Amino acid sequence: MELQNLNSDDEKLIKFRSNYREKIDGWYNGFLHVFIIYSIGFLLLCFYIMNISALKNIELLIVFFTFLLCNIFEWALHKYVMHRPQNFPGARAIYSRHVQQHHQFFSKEEMRFAGPHDWRVTFFPPYALIIFTFMSIPGVILLTWLFNANVGWLFIITTTSMYLIYETMHFCCHVGDNFILRNLPFVNTLRRHHAAHHDQGIMTKVNMNLTFPIADWLFKSSDLNRGLLGHLFNGYNEKYKK
Ligand SMILES: [Zn+2]
Ligand SMILES: [Zn+2]
Repeated sequence: MELQNLNSDDEKLIKFRSNYREKIDGWYNGFLHVFIIYSIGFLLLCFYIMNISALKNIELLIVFFTFLLCNIFEWALHKYVMHRPQNFPGARAIYSRHVQQHHQFFSKEEMRFAGPHDWRVTFFPPYALIIFTFMSIPGVILLTWLFNANVGWLFIITTTSMYLIYETMHFCCHVGDNFILRNLPFVNTLRRHHAAHHDQGIMTKVNMNLTFPIADWLFKSSDLNRGLLGHLFNGYNEKYKK
């Protein structure tokens, strides 16, 4: 951010960032944070995949339905828990971490983190994956009972993968612009989509998806006025803004 021509919002953001950074525990290491998230994720995925046997094509249908379910879940969690204070255990902490930290640290004008130290406010804490894993277990049990074990394992493979995709896509939204990100399908779309969401004036209303803007299109909470395919491959295009 240029130091000349700062407006009051820029000054607020700079002040917030320096206060936030001062409060981070000395032992915090951004690389370790990310390493723990992806190590747990990939180890769990390996374990689930090892349990699949004699896979039939029809069983793969569950991946498609789980993908859509996760997309709606991510949208709903962001809209109703991360942006609205709720009363169940942990909800307030999620809300405060998102609205009072993440959204103060990154603005529509300054979406970039400065370095690995800022990953503290970019990624979820590592225990989030453990919580999402426990939330998936009833689904595994139900689908195994209704269909078979392969369908159960494929369900949790998809939920865990979607979580890792969520973290990766969101990370890509807070990296400085470059040729690759600008031209990478889906990533370029989400970068514009999420930067628009970081506008404090509209953050509670638009662009709640953090992987692919499917639920935002479905529930009409997108800042774009175009069809599903147009939404998915919009890239940086501002032509269809409402
Ligand atoms: Zn963000
Ligand atoms: Zn948000």
